[in-house]
Amino acid sequence: MNPLEVRTLTDKYKAKGDCVWHIEELKTALLHLSDNKCAYCECDLTKESKYMEVEHFEDKHNNPDKVMEWDNLLPACKRCNGSKGIHDVVHEPIIDPFKEDPKNHLKLRLYRFREKTLMGKNTIEVVDLNHCERAVAKRFEIGEALLTSIKEALEKLDRFIENNSTKSKNRLLGHVQSLLLECQKKSQYSATAASVLHAETDYHELRIKMKAINLWSEELEKLHLLSEKISMECA
Ligand SMILES: [Zn+2]
Repeated sequence: MNPLEVRTLTDKYKAKGDCVWHIEELKTALLHLSDNKCAYCECDLTKESKYMEVEHFEDKHNNPDKVMEWDNLLPACKRCNGSKGIHDVVHEPIIDPFKEDPKNHLKLRLYRFREKTLMGKNTIEVVDLNHCERAVAKRFEIGEALLTSIKEALEKLDRFIENNSTKSKNRLLGHVQSLLLECQKKSQYSATAASVLHAETDYHELRIKMKAINLWSEELEKLHLLSEKISMECA
């Protein structure tokens, strides 16, 4: 969008209060930036009958001049956008997920976020990141499924060690690859999944055992390192 269009739409908002940001092209570009996820809670905005809202990081009531400013826009789910409301991020800063790495401000404990910094604390409260039903329950579901999947991978590894068959080997490799893919940036709730994975001793045991028999490929190591990058401290 060129500066003139931005200016025209901003003036239109200021004059009439129209939702001038409802532009398909703009929404698509924002979704692309966040891998189709809500920038705050990581839910998939194309699933769970959710739809995307254009979130104004510096809220539109107090900062009408920034209503069409690209750097001020985020893709968010209805609930995160609604919880944040007209919170003033200039006076009480919260994490801008496009500019700040959340893991510097948050850690995970029993599927709830805990603050490492004041900005983290404000974010949890303002966006309601520990809402039981919508956030904690979902993280619990994702985390517990992942732990089960790690156990299954260890069982598949044992089976392969017993029978040394190609079928067992391929089953194991396929399983571990999909496990790691769930913990990549593109997947929904990937920060939770990656944090649970890296905090789990069974996962590290699996990796060490597979390395010992040369089954841990460069591709798996690459996925391992990428997931490590987004994992948060679990305390
Ligand atoms: Zn959300």
